[in-house]
Amino acid sequence: MPENQTNTSVIEKICHESECAEKIATLSSDEHNLFKTFTYCPYCAEELSLVCQACKEELNNNEYKFCPWCGAKFQEDAPNK
Ligand SMILES: [Zn+2]
Ligand SMILES: [Zn+2]
Repeated sequence: MPENQTNTSVIEKICHESECAEKIATLSSDEHNLFKTFTYCPYCAEELSLVCQACKEELNNNEYKFCPWCGAKFQEDAPNK
């Protein structure tokens, strides 16, 4: 992997139900931050999937530091002050 690679991404939580995905897409950023802590979809109670925001590939571990599919570095959430 090239050392100067600067691709960054974040781990997103998604629901595979398209109706839920539409609702999730309309959340405010505050609501979205809360949503990221959820395990189950608040709209259909399915377990949420973790995906790389950059390549949308599914992850099975939210402790990855890099995306195993596209190599992007996952950013920690920057504290907003
Ligand atoms: Zn759902
Ligand atoms: Zn990726």
